[in-house]
Amino acid sequence: MMPVTWPSFSDIHPFAPVNQAQGYQEMFKNLGELLCTITGFDSFSLQPNAGAAGEYAGLMVIRAYHLARGDHHRNVCIIPVSAHGTNPASAAMCGMKIVTIGTDAKGNINIEDLRKAAESNKDNLSALMVTYPSTHGVYEEGIDEICKIIHDNGGQVYMDGANMNAQVGLTSPGWIGADVCHLNLHKTFCIPHGGGGPGMGPIGVKKHLAPFLPSHPVVPTGGIPSPDNSQPLGTISAAPWDASKIAILNANYMAKRLENYYPVLFRGVNGTVAHEFIIDLRSFKWPVPGTLMIEPTESESKAELDRFCDTLISIREEIAQIEKGKADINNNVLKGAPHPPSLLMGDAWTKPYSREYAAFPAPWLRTFKFWPTTGRVDNVYGDRNLVCTLLPASQVVEEQAACHGLVSSSMFLSLFLPQTYFNFPPRYNLMCI
Ligand SMILES: *Cc1c(COP(=O)(O)O)cnc(C)c1O
Repeated sequence: MMPVTWPSFSDIHPFAPVNQAQGYQEMFKNLGELLCTITGFDSFSLQPNAGAAGEYAGLMVIRAYHLARGDHHRNVCIIPVSAHGTNPASAAMCGMKIVTIGTDAKGNINIEDLRKAAESNKDNLSALMVTYPSTHGVYEEGIDEICKIIHDNGGQVYMDGANMNAQVGLTSPGWIGADVCHLNLHKTFCIPHGGGGPGMGPIGVKKHLAPFLPSHPVVPTGGIPSPDNSQPLGTISAAPWDASKIAILNANYMAKRLENYYPVLFRGVNGTVAHEFIIDLRSFKWPVPGTLMIEPTESESKAELDRFCDTLISIREEIAQIEKGKADINNNVLKGAPHPPSLLMGDAWTKPYSREYAAFPAPWLRTFKFWPTTGRVDNVYGDRNLVCTLLPASQVVEEQAACHGLVSSSMFLSLFLPQTYFNFPPRYNLMCI
């Protein structure tokens, strides 16, 4: 991250004449070539600044391709119900007609549903948007067939590459049969993106789509030609291999550790998961409804993975105490958590479980614990009883201009913090946000 902060690197104007930014040009070219190699595509555009922007750009490329062939009517986009929310949003922004298809009990795309949707929309089919591995954390067995069905019916395959960290060095969107795909460099390749930016969602395309890649009126970009396949890129592409394998290994390690305590939904045919997995909490009354998606990525140490698993296992044990009648169903450590210092350090302790367990349910908490500042907030009460902590407008003389922002920020805080926290002047509330 350090070079990003060097003035010689960061102070350049985005529209500086290209001949004054040769170093940047070289980096763009290298990056595009590397991404081509990793993805099996022929050309890349580095313009989109987020995954969702990549989806939009990629669908516009597909649209331009159909238009260039005189297929003005091809505007149907098939999207499985399991897709990320940005998929249908992008298709809608491109003016496409969205046809949804279902998934089977294992979380895979229902191929017969897909075939029917593709065949009945044969004349107007524009694209399929598919995520691989799926958002359920499974390598879809039928992905080759899925791509073939779409191509046979005149459509193009858009692959949502947000889960690319489970493919790098093992397989690739181009090899599988996708025509265009975005990558989330801020996810898969760990580029810095703290605090809301910068993201990067470049799109890669097969040769036939390359002429349709986006350009720019000030600095023409267009696609970046693929490198000559006879020139291997040496060790540069070796590092991402590790990212994929370790991300997959980590997810499977955690799924294995947790499977005796929580049901793991959706696995591949050999019983393993991809880079993420879902545990089923529907049998418990839980603050998070339904299920929990766990995506450890490659960046956490084994100690951290274990800390997470140990915590989930110990919560399961606390649930078991209630199941066995050893803990009171209404007054127990789960219902009482989180325990803030104000409660733990008070003279009176009336809970049926020990103060020590409430503070340190796991041994490592003695060396590092994040102390919550408040006990559990009654969200439903907060939602139904909005409290505006501002003075009435008549009493706010100088700060009237800022009032709108303050109203919304204090409303937000009122929902999430107990009312005793609201003795602050409004300006302080704003700083909290
Ligand atoms: C994150 C994600 C996106 C959107 O990417 P952004 O960079 O957040 O716009 C799209 N699809 C999937 C599957 C994702 O995980």
